[in-house]
Amino acid sequence: MPVTLLPSPFPRHLYYEALALQPIINELSCKVANDLQFLQTTFQDVIKADEFTKNLLDINLKVNRDGLAQPVKFCINRSDYMLDRTDSRYPFRMRQVEVNAISCSMAAHSLNVSKLHEYIFKKYNIELRNSCEMPKNGGLELVADSLIEAFNIYNKPNSYVLFVVEDIAINFSDYYQIEINILKKRADIKSLRVPFSKLQDTINLGPNKELFVDGKEIAVVYLRHAYDPHHYEFSGSWETSLTVEQSRAIKCPSVNYHLAGAKKIQQVLNNARQLERFLTTKQANQLSEVYCKIWSLDSEDGYRLAKERSDGMVLKPQREGGGNNIYLDAIPKFVENLENDPVQRSQYILMEYIKNPSEKNWIFRNELCENDFSCDKIVSELGIYGSILDQRSSILEDKSSGYLVRSKRLGVNEGGVASGYAAISSLLLLDDLGNDESLYYQT
Ligand code: ADP
Ligand code: MG
Repeated sequence: MPVTLLPSPFPRHLYYEALALQPIINELSCKVANDLQFLQTTFQDVIKADEFTKNLLDINLKVNRDGLAQPVKFCINRSDYMLDRTDSRYPFRMRQVEVNAISCSMAAHSLNVSKLHEYIFKKYNIELRNSCEMPKNGGLELVADSLIEAFNIYNKPNSYVLFVVEDIAINFSDYYQIEINILKKRADIKSLRVPFSKLQDTINLGPNKELFVDGKEIAVVYLRHAYDPHHYEFSGSWETSLTVEQSRAIKCPSVNYHLAGAKKIQQVLNNARQLERFLTTKQANQLSEVYCKIWSLDSEDGYRLAKERSDGMVLKPQREGGGNNIYLDAIPKFVENLENDPVQRSQYILMEYIKNPSEKNWIFRNELCENDFSCDKIVSELGIYGSILDQRSSILEDKSSGYLVRSKRLGVNEGGVASGYAAISSLLLLDDLGNDESLYYQT
């Protein structure tokens, strides 16, 4: 895993603001996910051209129509933010990039990097000034505790937590640390890891829709895969997803939460007025403070801005996991052919580009320092973890804690770690960020 040598400075008050927003984000996700009609209406144009989203929506509709075998719904999410310095009235503002609702990874690595940075500070006697803080990182704990709670709700001794993973588990150490963390707390909770593509050979439903894998009853299905169309490139993939969703096992996420995390939802609920449909006015105002402007590409304004103001925009389809967005000056050429194609245009959202301030740091990849040991200009993105367990839209448990910092070289657009763009960092909270030239500077 690539890591930074030093933690990333971040304004203390904005970090605590992000933590305070997480319960609101959890509540919003829960309400959106459980509003079947809202999901159907929001995606009605998207699915005309987007087969992947259509399949997810169809599964959600089918399991609701057939009657839910499992009324408890579960999601571990992560809300990602960047600092923004475009508005001269504020030294820095925080803007939300997106809320991830499926396979929110790196909680374990993030904790390890926090510990690594604490160790480096201790070993080299780097003293924290009074106002600095390296906050506790509870992301791994949140993931493990939430999976344990879901297991308890299922309430069947000798059942299992199933990790659904990629064929070649490149991120196995993240899974492994979650499993170990669960075992430390509850030695009786066993887990299994099965690649998504191998699941169909081993699963079957019992008389009460219990999910069995090789005869072992599954209490909780934790999806760390199956969020990208490429993951479905084997025969029977959608039938596998449907079987899992139809089962009594508690899914993380259930398909309705997966859908609620889509970029289209983010665009439709892009202002306080729209948010008031699900939240109080106070909550809606608080949350919309960190929103960027977002347009649908099938709106007149959206299409015009994509052609004319591409220097400040990101174009996004309904995809997760990195590598799918179109950035800045690549946008006009990309949208050129879509002018008379509203069906294709409706798949995309257009988002203001966040101008993240840079900092100085060193990135280590495969034990080697990038950039020949020279200090790099990097930009960092903060993610806050949350989790929700609900029963017919009333929240049973919800948690907000822990963080991930992903840092990438200035000028790199994408931000994923597993996808090879970013390194993992940790937080150094400061009160006077703007003045600390030695660690942090604006470009
Ligand atoms: P994905 O679902 O593929 O992770 P994201 O919306 O998170 O898609 O975008 C991927 C990365 O692109 C982010 O992690 C971030 O680094 C960058 N990015 C996304 N939106 C913006 C934006 N509005 N401004 C600047 N960078 C962005
Ligand atoms: Mg992302």
